[in-house]
Amino acid sequence: MRIQRVRGIPDWLGADAARLRLLEEQGIGLARQYGYQEVVLPVLEPKELFVRSIGTHTDIVGKEMYCFEDRGGEAICLRPEGTAGAVRAFLQAGLHRGGTQRWCYVGPMFRRERPQKGRLRQFTQFGCECFGLASPAADVELLALAWRYLDALGVAARVRLLLNSLGCSVCRPPYRERLVAFLEARRERLCADCQARITRNPMRVLDCKNASCQAELQSAPHMLDMLCDACRAHFAEVRAGLEALGIAYRVDPKIVRGLDYYTRTAFEFVAEGLGAQATVLAGGRYDGLVKALGGPDVPAVGFAAGLERLALLLDEAPLAAPDAVVIALGEEMLAPSLKVAEALRREGFFVVHAGGGGAKRQFREADRQGARWAVIVGEDEWKRGLVRVKDLQTGTQHELDLEEACKLLRTD
Ligand code: ATP
Ligand code: MG
Repeated sequence: MRIQRVRGIPDWLGADAARLRLLEEQGIGLARQYGYQEVVLPVLEPKELFVRSIGTHTDIVGKEMYCFEDRGGEAICLRPEGTAGAVRAFLQAGLHRGGTQRWCYVGPMFRRERPQKGRLRQFTQFGCECFGLASPAADVELLALAWRYLDALGVAARVRLLLNSLGCSVCRPPYRERLVAFLEARRERLCADCQARITRNPMRVLDCKNASCQAELQSAPHMLDMLCDACRAHFAEVRAGLEALGIAYRVDPKIVRGLDYYTRTAFEFVAEGLGAQATVLAGGRYDGLVKALGGPDVPAVGFAAGLERLALLLDEAPLAAPDAVVIALGEEMLAPSLKVAEALRREGFFVVHAGGGGAKRQFREADRQGARWAVIVGEDEWKRGLVRVKDLQTGTQHELDLEEACKLLRTD
C-alpha cells in the first residue's frame, strides 16, 4: 500500500505552490518597505513557551498543539503561531535593551484542528511584529501595511477591516467581571464550549461561531463602553489615523483575541464568501506578552495572515512557460545542446532542456511546456557554429549563431 499524506496537511504543487510563493514574496517585500526585517525562527520550540504565552485555557494549547518528548526528555512543540517565538527570540538576543525592532516572517504553523476548506493542520503565516512602540501610530502603520498587502494582492475590495479595543489591565478586569455575570445568567442557553469558557476565557465567548450563542449575546456588555481614559484616547487616535490614510474599517465589539496578553487594538480582515474560515489576517496589540515571558515591559503590536486562506481568494494564475526548449538531434549533440541551454540561461532566459533522445518526443515536450521557441541543436548547423531556432507558434525556422538567437528570443 502506498503511504498517504497526513490528514489536514496538503501537498501544494504547480500553480498552487507558485501562488503561495507569490503571497510570501509580496508580504516580505512590502514589509521591508515599512522597515520590517525578515527573521527566520525555529519551527520547534519548548512546549512551555506556548503554555506561558497562549495559555492552557485556549483551544490552541488545550487541544490543538503537536507536542512530543524528544530523546533527551525535553517537551517540544511544533509552533502553532509565530508571535510567542518572536518574543522569545527578541528577549534571547537581548534586544529589549535597545530601541524598537520591526520583524516580519513567513513559515509553517501547526494546529490539530478539524480539517476543512481554509482550515488545515499545517498552514503558512506571513506575520509582522513591532516591539517597543506604545504609540497608536505604530498600530496605524501596521494596519496600513496589512491593508496595502491585501490591496497589492487585488483582494482589498472583497475584504473588510473589523476593529476593536480590548482595554488594558486597568479597565479589562471590571469589564470581565460584568461579562462573566452576564454569561452566567445565560449559561444554560450557551453551547458546551462557551459554558466552559465562562470562567476560563470569557471574552472568547463573544467570538463563538455558533448562531444560537450569537443570538444570546445580542445584549452582552462591550469592552468599548468601559475603556479607561488612556485606552479610549488610544482607540480614538488609531481611528483618526486610519481615516487620515483613507483605510475603511468598521468597529466591531465582538472582535476578541481571547488571550490575556492582548491589549487595546484588536483587528481582523474578513473576506466575503469563505464561510467560517473568513478571517484572512488578524492581529493587535500585545503589550503584556514580553513581560509574561520574563522580559521587561515592552509594548508590541503585530499581525499574522493565513496564506492558504488568502490563496482561496486569488485567481488561478497560469504557471510561467519557458522562453525556449532546447532539442538535441542525435546523441553526439547532447553535450553541445547542454552548453547551448546554459549559455541561454546565462543571458537570462528561462530554458528547459528536452532531455535528448527521439526528436518527436522532444518536440512534444516543447509543446507540453508551452514554450514559444525550440532551439534545435543538429550536427550540420553546429559544425558551422549555428543552431536552428523554431517559432513554435508559426513554424518558421532560422539558422542563427547564439548571439542572433538571443536577439530573436528577446524580440518577443
Ligand atoms: P480562526 O478564528 O479562523 O480559527 P484564529 O483566531 O485561530 O482564526 P490566528 O491565531 O489569529 O487565527 O491566526 C491568524 C490567521 O492565520 C488567521 O486569521 C487565519 O487566516 C490563519 N489560520 C489560523 N488557523 C488556521 C488553520 N488551521 N488553517 C489555515 N489558516 C489558519
Ligand atoms: Mg483558530
